[in-house]
Amino acid sequence: AEVNKDDLRSPICCILGHVDTGKTKLLDKIRQTNVQGGEAGGITQQIGATYFPVEVLKEKIAPIDPEEKQVFKTPGLLVIDTPGHESFTNLRTRGSSLCNIAVLVVDIMHGLEQQTLESIRLLRDKKTPFIVALNKIDRLYGWQATPNGGFRDSLAKQNKSTQNEFDTRLQATIVAFAEQGLNAVPYYNNKNFAKNVSLVPTSAHTGEGIPDMLQLLVQLTQERMAASLMYLSELECTVLEVKVIEGLGTTIDVILSNGVLREGDKIVLCGLNGPIVTNVRALLTPEPLKEMRVKGAYVHHKLVKAALGVKISAPGLEKAISGSRLLVCTDDDDEEELKDDVMSDLKDLQRWISTSGKGVCVQASTLGSLEALLEFLKQGKIPVSGIDIGPVFKSSVRRASTMLDKGHTEYACLLCFDVEIDKEAEKLAGEMGVHIFSKMTIYNLVDDYKAFYDNLME
Ligand code: GDP
Ligand code: MG
Repeated sequence: AEVNKDDLRSPICCILGHVDTGKTKLLDKIRQTNVQGGEAGGITQQIGATYFPVEVLKEKIAPIDPEEKQVFKTPGLLVIDTPGHESFTNLRTRGSSLCNIAVLVVDIMHGLEQQTLESIRLLRDKKTPFIVALNKIDRLYGWQATPNGGFRDSLAKQNKSTQNEFDTRLQATIVAFAEQGLNAVPYYNNKNFAKNVSLVPTSAHTGEGIPDMLQLLVQLTQERMAASLMYLSELECTVLEVKVIEGLGTTIDVILSNGVLREGDKIVLCGLNGPIVTNVRALLTPEPLKEMRVKGAYVHHKLVKAALGVKISAPGLEKAISGSRLLVCTDDDDEEELKDDVMSDLKDLQRWISTSGKGVCVQASTLGSLEALLEFLKQGKIPVSGIDIGPVFKSSVRRASTMLDKGHTEYACLLCFDVEIDKEAEKLAGEMGVHIFSKMTIYNLVDDYKAFYDNLME
């Protein structure tokens, strides 16, 4: 078949890892270009994502590929901006191409930390191919920087003692990955990308290793992404965030990972009180990066193509749920079927609820994070009696309190992940004897609950 170059879509890359490992800094470093003025080298800032066209990737990879031998089969790379698993857990649509590849950032001075382990678990669950950026190599004692250079050239220029320190830390990291059942190898020694995890030493400060990292991302996505995924096909779209914007009302930020969206499209998505059916009023991306960007100024689009991050303004989005799939209802579609389809994601989660009627109540910010939390609780053999999405109000507290009536103090608990807790609800919980656990990481949340449980059972 004839290949239509206009119908190519870009792979999507997520960055995740422990806090302070340099996720934001790495992305900032990639965003820096030498091109002056206007839109920096065609890099476009989108909603929740940054788009790097091939020209920019070429320029960045040049230090290790001076003869431009690297072949590019996609128009560019879309990197999801909000680093952390808030966004990653959201990119959950089944069988999807939502996150084609991930970069797990590890601080070479710290090794594997708590959120690194949590990230590994998420990546495994979703079977997402990933590489490891072993970041902050510039902190190795005596490191002499070659700004934006390839890693191996840089390493060759270091003193023997610095090279030794690198080796020691590299080996320690490899052992730590082995403890997680993963065979990690420096990417330049990796002979089997499907089996082994590649380690790419980087520095977000000096830019060293970034050419290596980008080249590896390009190579892996091209190799491991099915050829069909590189072409625009059926619509695949996920709600990342629900936001109230002055002048626009409630909007949704979505990642369009495949297909096309048009102004006026009838869309169907999952809402807290049932399915939402509405029409796209506007498709918005931020103004191009100029020296002085007017905050909150948007470019309107009649039509957008994957992969990109876009803000949708439409009536009736107040109860939209982050993590929901978004479908477009054409004249050929059965609207009722689509409604059932989007709501099934929320309904599916009911299967986690214990049939015994006993268990803790769980509340999270998004469909994806709720699912991740539920999976984690299951592994910890902690039963769940109720689930909800969004802020904690009095009704959630009352529901959890029914465990007290049943004589199960240990389950009269609300485990809250990344959600706001209403003051009145907090007060009521105190009065009723319901324990609220609220944490920004799933690990800490579950650990806190376990400690409480063990303490109570002693
Ligand atoms: P994030 O929480 O993973 O997004 O981490 P940040 O990007 O905010 O970085 C955390 C801290 O580490 C900041 O003070 C950064 O300047 C610093 N940092 C990040 N990358 C590097 C690096 O490659 N080398 C050094 N020396 N510091 C880094
Ligand atoms: Mg950050």
